[in-house]
Amino acid sequence: MSGLMAGKRGLIMGLANDKSLAWGIAKKLAEHGAEMAFSYQGEALKKRVEPLAAQLGSDFVFECDVSEMTVLDAAFDALKKRWDTIDFVVHAIGFSDKTELRGQYVDTSLDNFLMTMNISAYSLVAVAKRAREMMPNGGSILTLTYYGAEKVIPHYNVMGVAKAALETSVQYLANDLGPENIRVNAISAGPIKTLAASGIGDFRYILKWNELNAPLRRNVTIEDVGGSGLYFLSELSSGVTGETHHVDAGYHVVGMKQEDAPDI
Ligand code: NAD
Repeated sequence: MSGLMAGKRGLIMGLANDKSLAWGIAKKLAEHGAEMAFSYQGEALKKRVEPLAAQLGSDFVFECDVSEMTVLDAAFDALKKRWDTIDFVVHAIGFSDKTELRGQYVDTSLDNFLMTMNISAYSLVAVAKRAREMMPNGGSILTLTYYGAEKVIPHYNVMGVAKAALETSVQYLANDLGPENIRVNAISAGPIKTLAASGIGDFRYILKWNELNAPLRRNVTIEDVGGSGLYFLSELSSGVTGETHHVDAGYHVVGMKQEDAPDI
C-alpha cells in the first residue's frame, strides 16, 4: 500500500453493488489507506452495501435519498456525528425514468425532466454545499458523467442534458469552492455494464460500438475508473479542479468508425 489516501476520510454516495463505478473507486481508495462512509438509497440497498463496506473495513453506512433535502441534511448530520471533518466525497448518482431512456428526447415529459435534473445534476450542488462545511482544510469532490453530455448518444436523451448540467455545475462549483482549496472534478466514464446502465436503450450496442471504435479497442472497467478516482481524490491532482476527465479508452477523440471495425 502506497498510502496516497492515508489519514484521509470521506463519503462514497451511489454504491449499489459490486458492479457500481463507486465500488471501483472505493476499492482503490481503500487500497491506499482511505477511511470511508457509504450512503445508499432506500432500505433495499442496505443489505447489499453493508457487506461491501465491511469488505473495505467500514461499518459506517447510512441511508440518503438525494432528491429530498431534509434526508440529505439528516445524512450529513449522521456523518458529522462521527466525523467532524472529511477530505473527499464521491458522487456516483444518476437516475431517470427508463421509459424515457429510449426513443426520442423530444418526448421527454416535464415531470421526468425535473426529476432527472434533480437527482442527476442538482444533487451534486446540494452535496457540495453540505460537504464544504465539513472541509475546513480543503478537500476533493468527484462526480461521474458520460459523453452523452457532449454529443448525442441515441436513447441517452434527458440524461445527456442532465449530465451537461452536471459538467457545467462542476465548473461553477470549482470556482465557488476553489478559494477554500476544495476541488471539484468529474470523470466521464466510457460505458460499463451496471444497474443504472441497464436502463438505457440498446446499451449492449453502445458497449460493442465503443469496444470496436475506441483507440484502445476495448471498454473500460470499474478498476480503470478507480485508478483515475484515486488521482482526483488524492494529492496527485492537487492542481486540478473544474475538470471533466475522460476515462473511456480514448473514445471521445475519435470522429468516425474505425476502418477495421466490422458492422454490428
Ligand atoms: P449504479 O446503478 O451502480 O449506481 C447508480 C447509483 O445511483 C445507485 O447506487 C443508486 O442507488 C443511486 N441513486 C439513484 N437515485 C438516487 C437517489 N435519489 N438518491 C441517492 N442515490 C440514488 O450505476 P453506475 O453506472 O455505477 O452509476 C454511477 C454514476 O456513474 C452515475 O452518475 C452514472 O450516470 C455514471 N456513469 C455510468 C456509466 C456507465 O456506463 N455505467 C458511464 C458514465 C457515467
